Amino acid sequence: MREFDTISAISTAIGEGGIAIIRVSGDRALDIVSKIFRAKNGKDIKDMKTYTMRYGHIIDIDTKEPIDEVIISFMKGPRSYTAEDVVEINCHGGVTSTNKVLEMTIKAGARLAEPGEFTKRAFLNGRIDLSQAEAVMDLISAKTDLAMKSALMQSNGSLSKEIGRLNEYLLNVLALIEYAVDFTEDEEEIDPSIPPRVSESLEEALNNINRLMKNADEGRIIRDGLSLAIVGKPNVGKSSLLNVLLREKRAIVTDIAGTTRDVIEEYINLDGIPVKIIDTAGIRETEDIVERIGVEKSKEKIEEADLVLLVLDISRELDKEDYEIIEAVKNKKSILLLNKIDLENKIDLNSLNNFEYKIKISAKEDLGIDKLKEEIKNMFFNGTIDSESLVISNSRHKQALIRAKENCEKAIISVKNNEYLDLVSIYVTSALKALGEITGTELEEDLVNKIFKEFCCGK
Ligand code: GDP
Repeated sequence: MREFDTISAISTAIGEGGIAIIRVSGDRALDIVSKIFRAKNGKDIKDMKTYTMRYGHIIDIDTKEPIDEVIISFMKGPRSYTAEDVVEINCHGGVTSTNKVLEMTIKAGARLAEPGEFTKRAFLNGRIDLSQAEAVMDLISAKTDLAMKSALMQSNGSLSKEIGRLNEYLLNVLALIEYAVDFTEDEEEIDPSIPPRVSESLEEALNNINRLMKNADEGRIIRDGLSLAIVGKPNVGKSSLLNVLLREKRAIVTDIAGTTRDVIEEYINLDGIPVKIIDTAGIRETEDIVERIGVEKSKEKIEEADLVLLVLDISRELDKEDYEIIEAVKNKKSILLLNKIDLENKIDLNSLNNFEYKIKISAKEDLGIDKLKEEIKNMFFNGTIDSESLVISNSRHKQALIRAKENCEKAIISVKNNEYLDLVSIYVTSALKALGEITGTELEEDLVNKIFKEFCCGK
């Protein structure tokens, strides 16, 4: 195990709460805490057993005045979160007392931990791989039960196992090639049983990569949310629709055209899919500066969105503005919403035939909204969401898998074309390298650091 200094941080959210936890990790964890802890039973904590607790006070290292009444727990490495000795101090959850206790651990010799440093240690100490560390982060930020379940599966090593299996196929290919090259003098006379076996292993690897990647787009949506833009000219009912989707009156609904000026971002939970709603101002040619910002943002948001809901008001005839918006979403995955069906229809629905998805709704009367939700699920998840199998949810992992896949494909073609096996082994080595980026064995240190920087403090 590598040598590290002992680190300390507040691991609970900052604010007033029932308790707060200060976590200290490293070889000197017990030694450092023993300098600032006075046990109720008078005993020194240095002989404390792993997985036990002690009750007492944190005292000021200089004045010896008590600071807070605490319970400390001890988890001896390697059976701890970081795989190092860990002491956790449970103190009263006030901002001042918590900070004071943290300050004492620093005065007693610990260093303030960087964001994600505890998890990084677990990775560097070999307890978890990088995909598991990233899953810890996903678990914390999961927005729905489904996202949480998926992150938990990954944090338990399900992806790591899959990568391990892929590695085996590819290492087998390298071994076969090495064997073949070592035992033949002349490249032209290679043992004829070798190339088919190389191909077979490569095909196995490729099939497994394809299977893993199959639901990657769904995985990304489960993790990051489906971004949804609601567009339409002013007064067609966008805010009203947003409100029924949110079931709360967050956006302001008014009768004055063009009032939803800010782009509001909200999440709704659509049967387990986190949907990130980007509410957009009406797209509208305008001279008004404030409004134009809204319009420009709308166009940007259309670009960014996974799905656009285009709202039209059927109680008024379509005009130039409506057609401009229809034009703007032309190349986008979109659903046309014909709103205000509780009013008399004034538009010719046949003129809108080039929309594959069309739903009649009334945002005001809550009609057709369930159908809309159903349609979204159909478009992105084929109607059902598989919550049992592992999905690739992280785009970094997806990119690495794509590279592994491309190299496997090139290798297969090389074997088919009877090219030198050495060339095949170059592709296979590149594929292995790409897979290693997922688990972290093949990732440059500064990239690893970058990933952990995204973590929260104390984790
Ligand atoms: P936005 O400018 O597109 O955000 O439109 P709003 O949501 O502010 O709605 C404009 C007006 O249309 C408001 O007076 C709403 O009450 C009304 N409205 C919205 N949806 C419906 C609907 O389905 N039926 C009827 N009758 N009125 C609606």
